[in-house]
Amino acid sequence: MTTYRTCTLCEAMCGLAIEVENGRIMKIRGDEEDPFSRGHICPKALALKNIHEDGNRIRKPLIKRNGKFVETDWHEALETTAKKIADLQAKYGNQAMAIYAGNPNVHNLGSMLYLPNFSKLLRTPNRYSASSVDQWPHQQVAHEMYGHQFMVPIPDIDRTDLFVIMGANPVASNGSLMTAPGVSRRLKAIMKRGGEVIVIDPRKTETADLATTYLSIRPGTDVYLMAAVLRLILENGWHQPGPWTEFSTGLDELKSFVQSIDVKDVSRLTSIPQDEIECLAQTFAKAEKACWYGRIGVSTQRFGATTQWLIQCVNIITNKLDTPGGLMFPSPAVNVLDFLSPGHHGRWKSRVRSLPEFAGELPVIALTEEIETAGDGQIKGLVLAAGNPAVTTPNGQRLERAIQGLEFMVAIDFYLNETNRHAHIILPPVSPLERDHYDLIFHQFAIRNTSKFSQATMPRPVGAMDDGEIFAELTCRLARHKKLSFGQKFKFHLQKRMGARRILAFALKKGQSGVSLKQLLQNPHGIDLGAMAAQLPKGLRQEQIQLAPKRFVEDLNRVKDVGKQTEEFRLIGRRHLLNNNSWLRHIPHLNRGKSRMTLLISPKDAESLGVSDGDLVTVKSDVAQIDVVAELDSGMTHRVVCLPYGFSGRAHAHTASPFPHSASINDITHSNDWDRVSGNAVLSGVRVEVGLADAQTATKS
Ligand code: SF4
Repeated sequence: MTTYRTCTLCEAMCGLAIEVENGRIMKIRGDEEDPFSRGHICPKALALKNIHEDGNRIRKPLIKRNGKFVETDWHEALETTAKKIADLQAKYGNQAMAIYAGNPNVHNLGSMLYLPNFSKLLRTPNRYSASSVDQWPHQQVAHEMYGHQFMVPIPDIDRTDLFVIMGANPVASNGSLMTAPGVSRRLKAIMKRGGEVIVIDPRKTETADLATTYLSIRPGTDVYLMAAVLRLILENGWHQPGPWTEFSTGLDELKSFVQSIDVKDVSRLTSIPQDEIECLAQTFAKAEKACWYGRIGVSTQRFGATTQWLIQCVNIITNKLDTPGGLMFPSPAVNVLDFLSPGHHGRWKSRVRSLPEFAGELPVIALTEEIETAGDGQIKGLVLAAGNPAVTTPNGQRLERAIQGLEFMVAIDFYLNETNRHAHIILPPVSPLERDHYDLIFHQFAIRNTSKFSQATMPRPVGAMDDGEIFAELTCRLARHKKLSFGQKFKFHLQKRMGARRILAFALKKGQSGVSLKQLLQNPHGIDLGAMAAQLPKGLRQEQIQLAPKRFVEDLNRVKDVGKQTEEFRLIGRRHLLNNNSWLRHIPHLNRGKSRMTLLISPKDAESLGVSDGDLVTVKSDVAQIDVVAELDSGMTHRVVCLPYGFSGRAHAHTASPFPHSASINDITHSNDWDRVSGNAVLSGVRVEVGLADAQTATKS
C-alpha cells in the first residue's frame, strides 16, 4: 500500500509517497503528484523510516529515580508533571516555571494547536523559543511594517528574473522563510529563462556555486551595504513609482537617514568594490521582476533587524513588493494571521537584563541568567518542548550547567539530547509517521498556495500519545491544580475532546480558499490553489506600510557609526544538506562522507597561521575555546572562518557524533551579544582567534 504525506523535517513541505507492506515501511520516495514539490525530496526524508524504526527512540514515559531514567506509565508521568509544576509555582510564583519550545513544534499540527494553551496556562513571563535564535528580525520587521509578525513577504522565485540572496544558502538548507521544495531546480530555471541569481555571503556557498554572480562580504556588514544601496537608489531617482506610494508612510525619514551614508566607506567596510555596489543597486532597481531576500546569516548579526528592515525598504521603493516576480504574500487555506497574535513588543522585560519581550516571549539569550541568578522570580523549573538549547543557543555549555540546578524539568521529546538528558521526566510523543499532519505555518511562507492533509502513515502503539495530545492532557491536569473557573477548565476539556482534526476542519472553513478537510482527505497528494496573488493594501494588518518604524529608525544611530574595518577573524555558521539542526546525527545514511565538523578557512589565512588541511586548530572567543579540524576552502572570505551548526562534542547515546573532535559552534558564541533592536542572538560575525592547537603544534615540531 502506498500512502502520501508531507515531510515534516524541514520547511520545504515535500510530498512523500511511502510504501508500506505488512506493517513495515518498504520505501520512501518523492510524490510526483504532489502539486507543490512535484517529486522532489532530499536525503533527509528517508530518515523518517529510521526514526520510526529506531530502537533508541523513546517509546514510553521516563522518570528519573536515583539519577537514572526508568520507564513509567503515562498516568504517573503526566500527573507528576502537572503536580510538580503546580507545586513549584505555588511555592515560588508563576515566573519560576519557564518553557522553551524548539523548532520541531512548528512542524507539528498537534503542537501548533495545543502547545499555546499550555504555555499560556503557565502564566509565566519566562517563555522562550527557537524563534529568538534566528527569526525574530523577520517577525519584528513584519509586525512593524505590515501589522502582523507572520506577514512575511516571500520571494516569488518561480516568476522572478533577478533573485538576490543574502546570508542564505537554500541549496543546503532547503529554504527558510521561503518554503520552496527543489530550490536548486527553481534557481536554475531563473537562469534558464535569462534571469540572474546574485548571492552575497562571506562564504562561496553551494547556492553561490549555482548563481550567476557571487559577491563576498565581510560578516556583520550587511546593514551598511543595504544602507548604501538605499542611498544610491534614492539619490539617483532609481526608485519606482507604484501602488506602494499610496499606502506607505516614512519615505522622507528614509531619505534623510541615507544622506549620512558614504558609499566609499561602505565599500571599505564590506570589502565589496564601490562600482559593484552601484551596479547591484541599479540593476536591482531597474529590473522589472526582482526580489531581494536575506535569511539566517543576516538575521543573526548585531544589526539583524535593521538589515532585514532595509531589505524590505529596498524591495518596496523599487516596486518589488506584492507584484509577481517580487516579494509577495501567500494566501494559505488556513489563514494563520487570523489565529495567531499579530505581535507586541516590550510589554514586560526580563528580570536580570531588562530585555523586552516580543509576542509573549523573552529572548533566549536571557534564559541562562534567569536560571542562574538567585532572587525573586528566579527560574526553578523548565518545560522543554522538542528542543535542545544546550546545543542550539549561544553559550550552550553554560546553559547546560545551569539547568542541572533546576528543581524540576520535563521534556516532551522522543530522543534524549544534550539538554533533556538532565530532565526529571520525559514524555515521548509518537513518531512523525504515526500522527496526522497539516502544515499550519509553512503554507504561510510558501512560494505557491497549496493545501494538503497527511493522515498518519503507521498505526501507533496502544496508549501512545502525539504531541498535541500530551499538551492537551497536561493542560487539563495542570488546570485542575490551579484556581480556575469551571468555564475555563471546561474549555480546555472541550478542546481536548475536539481533537486536532476537528479544529483543523473549523480553521479551514474560516479560510477563504473553500477547501474543506473532506476534500483534502479525498485528495491525498494535496490541492493546488495557484500562484501568490497581489493583496495590498486590503491585506495589510494595519492602515499603511510603515517604511520608517520608530524602533528601527532609532537604531540607525548605531549604523551611522560605521567604524573601521578590522583584521580580526570573524566566525560564521553553515548548514549542510545532510544535517537537521541538532538532531538526526546518529542516522547512518545522514553521516556518510567525510567529516563535516570542520573549520573552513581560506588557504591564504591558513598559510599565514602555519595551518595545513586536516590540522587541529583552536578557535577561541571571549567565552571559551574549542579544538576542531581545519579544512582549507578557497571559497572563504579573507579573515573569516566557518563552523557547522548543530554539532556537539558532549558524548551522548543518541547524539554522539561519529566525527572526531566534534564541538558546538554555540560553545563559543555569546549569550551577552545580541541585536539591540530585536533581542535576537548574534551567531554570525563573532570575533575569534584562530591558531594551531597545542597538540598539533607538538606534532609539527
Ligand atoms: S527538503 Fe525538507 S521537506 Fe523536503 S524531503 Fe528534505 S527534509 Fe523533507
